Amino acid sequence: MKKIISGNKYSNDHLIYEILVIIFTTLSVVDLAIASMVCKSWNLASRSPKLWKRLDLSILSLKGMNEPLRPFAWMDEYSSQKITQFLKYTSSLSGGTISCIIFNYNVYLRDMHLISIAERTPNLKRLVLPISGNISKIGIETALRSWRGLKSITITSMVHYINLFDAIEKYCTNIVCLKFTYCFEQDHAKSLVKYTPNLKVLSIRSMRVNMRGLCYVLNNLEHLKVVNLSHSIILDKFDDELRIYSIFDVLSRVNISCKIIVCQRRSCLRCKNENMRNSRRLSNGSLEEIWREDEIICLAH
Ligand SMILES: [Zn+2]
Repeated sequence: MKKIISGNKYSNDHLIYEILVIIFTTLSVVDLAIASMVCKSWNLASRSPKLWKRLDLSILSLKGMNEPLRPFAWMDEYSSQKITQFLKYTSSLSGGTISCIIFNYNVYLRDMHLISIAERTPNLKRLVLPISGNISKIGIETALRSWRGLKSITITSMVHYINLFDAIEKYCTNIVCLKFTYCFEQDHAKSLVKYTPNLKVLSIRSMRVNMRGLCYVLNNLEHLKVVNLSHSIILDKFDDELRIYSIFDVLSRVNISCKIIVCQRRSCLRCKNENMRNSRRLSNGSLEEIWREDEIICLAH
């Protein structure tokens, strides 16, 4: 009889656990962290690996702090420490299962934030960096040393690309997807060919793209399968004269088998957004859309 009762108790506890996990899948990461502090059973359910494949901080509002509505938000010392605590707590709840981190677009990221979360997420595969912050050479190297299995990065101007690619060379030899969000110059192209020879997916959409850099990448990255050039301006400077090129100019100069994505109004996210100038448009306009959206699904979030 005792065995039956204890068996039923296990079934009930397990059922409650499963139901809590299902409910918790609907919560934001902030609400999930709060729920984890309610009681022992909620804490246990909040640690389910099913809840922690992806740490999405794009919607973030912490107690006692204003919403981060513009870049360079939460730069002060108090906010910075709160972010560190929050990142440490959420990543410890995850038990190291997080494979994708999307930082908040506006929150200012520092070395201590990046390093503290990197140390607790050794299985990371995809990283989406925020638009503002100050990450040093040591900061990015320390983080990537923990993220040796990293395959995909959305790169913003908050990390100097030379520091980033130096760290990639040392620790992350499996990078296959990259997205640039500010510009694409010849130096970027050389770094890609040198440090990410296995690259398969590249997004350089809605930005200035250097013609020689683009051709260099297309001719030298043999595993490249798709390049997103939607709404980018392809240009180059010769004798102080700036020339603009079409996609046909590019195709006539390279020998490639990879797919090139350019604006096709029906499927183009930017054109669709232009047609929907309403409340769905993001507060920071096109910049945040470039960072968040992509016609290549594995780079959108
Ligand atoms: Zn378009």
